[in-house]
Amino acid sequence: MNKNFKSGFVAVIGRPNVGKSTLLNRFVGEKVAIVSNKPQTTRNKIQGIITGDDHQIIFIDTPGIHQPKTRLAENMVKTAEQAARGVDVILFMIEPKINIKADIELAEKLLKGKTPVFLVINKTDSVPKPELLTVIAAYKDYKFAEIVPMSALKGENADNLLETVLKYLPEGPRYFPDDAYTDKPEKFIVAELIREKTLFLLQDEIPHGIAVEVMSMKERKNRPLMDIEATIYCEKESHKGIVIGKHGSILKQIGTKARHDVARLLDCEVNLQLWVKVKENWRDSDFYIRNFGLKQEI
Ligand code: GDP
Ligand code: MG
Repeated sequence: MNKNFKSGFVAVIGRPNVGKSTLLNRFVGEKVAIVSNKPQTTRNKIQGIITGDDHQIIFIDTPGIHQPKTRLAENMVKTAEQAARGVDVILFMIEPKINIKADIELAEKLLKGKTPVFLVINKTDSVPKPELLTVIAAYKDYKFAEIVPMSALKGENADNLLETVLKYLPEGPRYFPDDAYTDKPEKFIVAELIREKTLFLLQDEIPHGIAVEVMSMKERKNRPLMDIEATIYCEKESHKGIVIGKHGSILKQIGTKARHDVARLLDCEVNLQLWVKVKENWRDSDFYIRNFGLKQEI
């Protein structure tokens, strides 16, 4: 182990939609976490990795914390709570608003542990300065290791956050090879990209009852081209029609957009085949929760 090399794990925790995935994408520079204006799209713990000459930071992106309604939701809360354990720094992210009961409850829970917790006030670009100062004042009695206002979207103060995190990391090994930006299998990331496009194109028509499974990924022998087959699962027969669209128009758009991002990610041409299937009540089924990788041991 290089004596001056620092490394460690950082969990990003906060309610849905505060900007956790946006921050991770900014740091890691690749689309590993899914950004959406719908809350709760990040279902899995994704690690984004930054490696520098003398440091490696492994980020854990967690689903937002919220009231459990279905078993899927319970799993998200558990994953977020688990992610907070065994990390070196917790970034507790909020939006610049005060008196949000869920934020305060969660902050109190996180601050009970031994791990340093940073209060990251994101979206500073969306409020005037005096309002931001009110938010900072509202949290002043809590024992946060650091308070960092920032804009994950605009990049304001992002470098400062990274440097401050580094101060809290111990000397440690290079856990992952230099070019690793995620420990997730490519299949999972491809499925997440397809799901992101589906949610984006359908906007409010279908809530969260969409899952994507990549059935196969095969590289052609004679040229840099990947054949990918994936299935989009929805909960109702009527949803299937919406996902496919008139004469297949929506599905075609999902395919085109996903193919573009996947090709960039894999750095090769992509031939993407998509199917749409109905699985009723999958959100409450343990089988699917496991199948889609939600039950992960850390
Ligand atoms: P997550 O659920 O916490 O992972 O949140 P996302 O990263 O998916 O972001 C949710 C929404 O907030 C998206 O529409 C983002 O573009 C937006 N957002 C994220 N960071 C910022 C920011 O710094 N400023 C503003 N104005 N919007 C942001
Ligand atoms: Mg997210």
